[in-house]
Amino acid sequence: MSRDGNGWHISFGVHTGRRPDAPNGKPACGVDFGVTASAFVSTEVAPRLMAPTLTASERERLKTLEQRKARQVTYAKKHNGGKYGNRLRKTIAQIAGLTARGANRRRDFTHKLTTDLAKNHGLIGIEDLRVKNMTASAKGSIESPGRNVRAKAWLNRAVLDNTPGERRRQLEYKARMYGSVVVPVVPFHTSQTCARCGQVDPESRKGCGRLFACTRCGYEDDADHNASVEIEARARRTGGSDINSTRSIPRVRVPATGRRRTREAPKPARAS
Ligand SMILES: [Zn+2]
Repeated sequence: MSRDGNGWHISFGVHTGRRPDAPNGKPACGVDFGVTASAFVSTEVAPRLMAPTLTASERERLKTLEQRKARQVTYAKKHNGGKYGNRLRKTIAQIAGLTARGANRRRDFTHKLTTDLAKNHGLIGIEDLRVKNMTASAKGSIESPGRNVRAKAWLNRAVLDNTPGERRRQLEYKARMYGSVVVPVVPFHTSQTCARCGQVDPESRKGCGRLFACTRCGYEDDADHNASVEIEARARRTGGSDINSTRSIPRVRVPATGRRRTREAPKPARAS
């Protein structure tokens, strides 16, 4: 049993007797989950972004309610010996309701994303975050540890909100349902590795922007997309030998620069 701002929930497990589906024969992909609410799928040309969990007017309303709550708490301390009155309780319930609404939308995004990934791909590469303390060493634009401490405090919250563990749990059970397979890969340096030539160099992410520009071969791509392609390549190497033949390559992509570019297949063995 659990409780949130919308009320109580009872959940229980049911044994459905459902067996894993036969391999669906769909293409492989790699997914780079952003630190905020986003995911870049290697087979796609644009990131999937979660809409803000609360609309502008809902955020405004939340702010008003928080202010009202603060006033009512002060009043309660002054005149009621700290005892919460009905109006204060009502305000708290309204705040909880709005917060729960945002959480529901976040859950909805995650469920739609994981269902879509499992249904439409035969292999899904993801970063194995169990071997990486993501909240301690932030990825992307705040990669170097020990800096941007405030930004990381925000990152910690964002990561907890997006719960990589929950994403992975959903992907794993849905993959079984839809004949797909989830391959967690070693997550180190995925954002600094060139998906075309395999060069690992933090300088390829100069300025820590959206652009990945390889210092060796000059390959340019959206940084998150480049990472997702690298994740896919690692997944194919570690777990997808039987999937390799299912896709015709090369694919055409539109990188962040807007120029169209043809990318060759990730080579099975590369110089590091
Ligand atoms: Zn390169």
